[in-house]
Amino acid sequence: MRYVEEFRDPKAAKGVLAAIARVADEIGATKEKPVHIMEICGGHTHAIFRYGLDKLVHEGIEFIHGPGCPVCVLPMSRVDECIDLAERPEVIFTTFGDAMRVPGTKTSLMQAKADGADIRMVYSPLDALELARRNPDREVVFFGLGFETTTPSTALSIQQAAREGLTNFTVFCNHITVPPPIKALLDDPHMVLDGFVGPGHVSMVIGVHPYDFIAEDYGKPLVVSGFEPLDLLQSVLMVLEQIRDGRAEIENQYARVVPEHGNPISIAAIDDVYEPRPTFEWRGLGEIDASGLRIRDAYRAFDAEAKFGIGYGAAAGRAVVEEPEGCACGAVMTGRCKPTDCAQFGTGCTPEMPLGALMVSSEGACAAYYQYGGARAVEAAE
Ligand code: SF4
Repeated sequence: MRYVEEFRDPKAAKGVLAAIARVADEIGATKEKPVHIMEICGGHTHAIFRYGLDKLVHEGIEFIHGPGCPVCVLPMSRVDECIDLAERPEVIFTTFGDAMRVPGTKTSLMQAKADGADIRMVYSPLDALELARRNPDREVVFFGLGFETTTPSTALSIQQAAREGLTNFTVFCNHITVPPPIKALLDDPHMVLDGFVGPGHVSMVIGVHPYDFIAEDYGKPLVVSGFEPLDLLQSVLMVLEQIRDGRAEIENQYARVVPEHGNPISIAAIDDVYEPRPTFEWRGLGEIDASGLRIRDAYRAFDAEAKFGIGYGAAAGRAVVEEPEGCACGAVMTGRCKPTDCAQFGTGCTPEMPLGALMVSSEGACAAYYQYGGARAVEAAE
């Protein structure tokens, strides 16, 4: 299969692994004093574990798993707000399936559905639009969730609803952007980060230049990467070569998919429909300035927060909720510990009975450790 087979070639992988080992030795990386490389995207975390790359690379490379999984960074307070909305009798609440099992303070969307709320899984915001057309006497709310990858499709559905003059379709907007949390992590004095593997799908939309500040202001290299094992190995090698050469640049390993300046049609749709929120809450990271998007006044009729007076649209402000006791999601997401360091891993928290969001999502670091960790998962559970 073109663009897949050649990026899974074991012989080529051995060559790149040897090059990684050579450069790691040149810069003096050891198990005790490793180079810390954060893969920002949850899809990369899963690929690293699926292919065992963390075990294959030189022992002086440590992967730090970043906050690039939108379901994982959704705070419990937002899940609670979803459920408040979904339980209204007039509402049909629509969502992608991966958000269904994320626990709020009392329950999840899955449980709320079992308890009678009209919650429907959709594959696209356009499915939600169709539901609105077919149910003019109900309020159809779409749970807009995700980074720049999914933001344009929600924007297009809002534009379409406006064109059709639909009055019973709104979006509960939880779209977030990648650069602000990276800045927050770099500003954290406890974080030790030497370089980044940048997200491929997000960059397909926004291009590579929104990351320029990482090299220019913080002196750290970032390589935008694809998702196959050889993509990731080559990206790690490119980061290491920059460190060895004393360079800090934004490079694009995934040029077969990511245009330098992104996708102009998607960017135009985002700019038309959304504006940055002053601040937005992230699980484990707290409120981060300008890290979330809200619906512009021109499309206010399609903003569920404004229409129903909830969340950031609530007159009384919104409640911030602490993580459940014993949950280390925040520490895992900021690289301060590994999933297996969490006391709940594999015992109080499993994919079947998740306590934290990192175990729910297919892109969560804890789910990756559990699914592909093998002995590590068993050891932690013992
Ligand atoms: S094991 Fe569960 S509770 Fe612990 S950090 Fe992971 S998701 Fe959170």
